[in-house]
Parts: sequence; structure tokens; C-alpha cells
Amino acid sequence: MHTYDESTDDLAEEIISYSLARIRMDPPPLDKPRTPDELRTAIGPTVTPDGIGGHEAFRLFVEEIAPATISIDHPRYLSFVPGAPTEAAALFDLIVGASSMYGGSWMEASGAVHAENEALRWVSDLAGFPEGAGGVFVSGGTGGNLSALVTARHHAALGRERPARWKLLASAGAHSSIDHVSRVMDFEIVRVPVDERGRLTGEHLAQVLEDHPDDGYFAVTATAGVTNLGIVDDLDGVADVAAAHGLWFHVDGAYGGAALAAPAYRHLFAGVEKADSFIVDPHKWLFSTFDCCALVYRDPEPARRAHTQHASYLDAITDRDEWNPSDYAVHLSRRARGLPFWFSLAMHGTEAYREAIETTLEVAHTGADLIRERDGFSLVTEPELSVVVFRKEGWTSADYTAWSDAALDTGFAFCLPSSHAGETVMRWCVVNPKTTTEDLASVLDSMVAFTG
Ligand SMILES: *Cc1c(COP(=O)(O)O)cnc(C)c1O
Repeated sequence: MHTYDESTDDLAEEIISYSLARIRMDPPPLDKPRTPDELRTAIGPTVTPDGIGGHEAFRLFVEEIAPATISIDHPRYLSFVPGAPTEAAALFDLIVGASSMYGGSWMEASGAVHAENEALRWVSDLAGFPEGAGGVFVSGGTGGNLSALVTARHHAALGRERPARWKLLASAGAHSSIDHVSRVMDFEIVRVPVDERGRLTGEHLAQVLEDHPDDGYFAVTATAGVTNLGIVDDLDGVADVAAAHGLWFHVDGAYGGAALAAPAYRHLFAGVEKADSFIVDPHKWLFSTFDCCALVYRDPEPARRAHTQHASYLDAITDRDEWNPSDYAVHLSRRARGLPFWFSLAMHGTEAYREAIETTLEVAHTGADLIRERDGFSLVTEPELSVVVFRKEGWTSADYTAWSDAALDTGFAFCLPSSHAGETVMRWCVVNPKTTTEDLASVLDSMVAFTG
């Protein structure tokens, strides 16, 4: 099984040619989901005692499996938060797979860890973090939020009695992963009311702390780019109140943190430099491949105390004064998943990142202008980053869904409705520099032309 012979060469040729062809596609096919029955029938049994062979398994992937996976980098993939890996990041991901690197410790992967840390340094600089800041690439925003809040609570618990109930302060705009983390870690979320723009503010936070004093608070989390509306909380105000109350301040910028690279938008993030921990997903708006979340701590020491695993078989690593990525999150073994991001950043330079992010912001804001100008459409809220939420007058929830299903089925667009304040609305999230204003206009045209 572990042999490289002529037939492996043939397979390598096929796999690499396919990969290059896929990376070159502009645009890639959107593709669409199939039902379990359809897939079972089309593919048949694949895991068998004798194996089906490389060519056959590969043929099934190309003909049946790949077309049943939506391409997140399609320019009219506008749902959730899309992704748009650079060619460089996608290519380099092949190398991470080929290199059998263990990304958990300095001892085993010093070179890779050094390169990942260079990329994390850029993220820390964007956030205005001090020189000693550091962190690790984890699988996604969910893992990043979990690891940051584990650190926060561990830090809060040092040298004091356990309160009756640990509590986190957050707004209703916080991402669903924060709720998930609250169940995993068994703490309560105390919701802070938002302002008229939907933002968590220092003022409202201070009010909640005054009205409901509690010894169980261990952290405040603010969102820099609320997923549904793309707005940024009042980070500066929240930071000051958190500091005054001795609370850990975590900023979730999984989607929106990338806009820190666009100087015209930097003011929205004022105060992020005061955060104790910050996350941003390069697999969302920083043009890397899945799965990649940059988690950075202003002071990594509390994270190391919270997360380092101890065992006799790990002493050789933990006894050394070296930077081990496994020490900063809930994990041990890890893929050096920050390397595709590092390679692309090193190759293109940070200016190219700024330009690409500015392009997406401009297209999203021009898209909002189109909606403002068109009869029959209206914005639900003024866009702040690159999320545009709007309604088509007279459409019911069923209309949005029927149009959206048809748009995906015909391979035109992946554009799901969302809801806001009980109303079904259309939502675009633009993170792909290849998404154009014409793409957005064509979506509006398609909605107008739709007859059900
Ligand atoms: C996407 C997102 C997350 C979750 O990130 P995953 O990488 O999907 O785990 C968390 N917070 C915010 C604000 C997000 O937009």
C-alpha cells in the first residue's frame, strides 16, 4: 500500500492536473446538493475489502462527488460567508498535505510554526496588538471562540472561589457559536441590549453591570462584523467598561475582522487593540482555504496556562521554553493550516490584500446603491461592511425560498434568504474580489423576472 510506482505516477498526474484545472476555473461551476438516495445510487459501494482502485475512486470523485459540492468561490455564492482562496493559497494547500508536518510543536515543525507566526503577526498588527501578542491557527471561528473563552474563564478562576454560575456578557447579535460554546463550557449568556443600529455598546454594557451585579461574570464578547447584518459593535466603549470591571474582552471578527486591512473602515474597529483575544477567519475574507481561523491573544501567557496538556510522553516538548501552537487552543495534533494563508500573504504582500478587501467593500456598497435606486427593492439596514440585507416589496417567505431554490438549481447563484426582526429578507455577503456589481445587478434582475 505504501508504495510509489508507475501507477502512482499516473494517479498523481490525474490528481494534479485536475487540481490545476479546478484552480484555473473562472468561474468554477456552482454545483448543487443531491439527496442521499441519488448519491448512493450514482456512486455505489466505495469502501470494500479489496478496494476499488485509485482511478475508479478518482472517477467517482470527479463525476459524482465534486458536482455535489457547492463551490464557495463562485462569484454569485453570496450566502452565509463565502470564501475565495487565492490560487497561491489553494496550491500551497497541496503542499501542506504532501509534507506530513505535525503543526503542534516547535520541536516538530519549527519552520512551519515560524511562518504561521509571521502571518499571525500581521493579524496582530492589524488589530494593534503589542509585540508580545501571539496565538495559533485553529479550525474555525467556533474553535477560536471556544479556545479564547476557555482561556478567559481559566484566567478569571485563578485564586478565587467558584461562583454559583459563570456568566458571559454578549449581545443578541453574537454568533451562534457563542451559544454553542456556552453549552459546551456550561456558562450562562447575559444579553446586553443593543442600540438602534444593532450594536453592543459600552453604555448598555455598563447599565447591565450596574443593574445586575454578579460575581460570575468572566468575560464580555463583542462582534466585529455581526454575521447577519455585517455591523461592528462599539468596541472602544465595550473595552473600557470591560477593563473597569476587570473582565476579559474577546472580539469575534471571524467574518468582519478582515476589513481591518481597509484603512477607510479602520475607524469602525477603534478599541479592538484593547481586546484580550481576537479572532478572524482567513477562510472567510482573507482568501485562504478551509479550515483556518487566526486566534490571537494580547498576552498569550494566560492561554498557555489554560491550554497546555501535560503528560509524561509530552514532557520532552512542554519542558522546553519554545512556542508550541498546541498550547494556545483546545487541540493537540494540528495541521499547519496557517501555511496556505502565510504563503499567499508572503507572495502577494499585504497591499494586495488591502486592495482585494477594498474591492469587495466597494462592490457591496455599490450593490446597496443598486437596491436603493431600484423600484420594488429596499435596504433593511445601511450596510457597514460587505453584508447587504434587503427586501423585495411584496415577497413572502415562500417567494424568497422559491427564487433561491431555482437560482441554485439552475447553477445561477447561491443566494439564501435570512431573516431580520421577524421578516424574511435577502442577504448578500461579498468577500470574493471576483464578484462584480454586474453579478449583483443580475441577481436583482433575476428576482424581478421570477414568476414562481
Ligand atoms: C463564521 C462566524 C463564526 C464561526 O466561524 P466558523 O469558522 O464557521 O466556525 C463565528 N463568529 C462569526 C462572527 C462568524 O461570522
